[in-house]
This record gives sequence, structure tokens and C-alpha cells, in this order.
Amino acid sequence: MAEVKVSDSEWEIMRVIWTQGDVTAQKVIDALADEMHWKDATVKTLLGRLVKKGMLSTTRDGKCFIYHPLVSEKETVKSATETLFAHICARKMGHALADIIERAVLSKEDVALLEQVLQEKTAVDEVACDCIPGQCECNDHCHASKA
Ligand SMILES: [Zn+2]
Repeated sequence: MAEVKVSDSEWEIMRVIWTQGDVTAQKVIDALADEMHWKDATVKTLLGRLVKKGMLSTTRDGKCFIYHPLVSEKETVKSATETLFAHICARKMGHALADIIERAVLSKEDVALLEQVLQEKTAVDEVACDCIPGQCECNDHCHASKA
């Protein structure tokens, strides 16, 4: 899937559609307009943008448009985290993940899942830095050790 940037407001809309399935604009308005302090037109604009981005499709049912999700919640969350992690040095990934786990509220089941993932994880001796020189300290260290 091509990388699609989803705004905070668009996430709110997509979550309603992922949960409720095929919906009319009115259903999304009923779910979010009050809570988000959005006008009906705002919801319709956001729905239009999501159609343009290829995240929703529409079909006409009489006077109403029905919106259908074209991407799953799981793949969108995956793509968003990949985008986030693409911005950090591969060598900092471990610390970033540890920080996320430390701050997250997790159930016993979640912890068991994480333990299982870690147990099955094949570790390398050293993570290769994939940054452009100057974006992280890894390359400086290389120069220092060579000199
Ligand atoms: Zn690096």
C-alpha cells in the first residue's frame, strides 16, 4: 500500500467507519459532531478527503451516500507506525520501543504476548545504522574509531 498520511481528524472518522462498517455521512455526524465540536459540513469535507485519499469508497443509495472502508484498521495502524519509525535511527529503535512499552497501560495478556514476541525474536550482534550521515551520531563514532 502506498504511504497515505492520515490527519488526526481523519483518524477519528476512520475509527467510526471501521467499527460500524458501511455508514452514511449522517451516522458519522451522529457519532462525532457533538463530541468533536464539528459542523455537519466538516464531517462531509473529511469524508470527501478520505475518498480522495483512497481510504473510503462511496456508493449511492437513493439520496444518501454510503461510505465503505477500503483499508483495514490493522494495516493503517501498521503503516502509521512504520512511518513514525522511519524517522529514527535503526540503532535507537530498541530504546524507543522500550520507552513505549514502559509508558503503555498493558494487560497481563498483553505482557504475555510481548514476552512471547521477544523470546522468538532473533537478535543481531549490532544493528546497522541506516541514516544519512549527519542525521545521527553513529557515523561520527565510526570516524572517531577509524582515526
Ligand atoms: Zn543512525
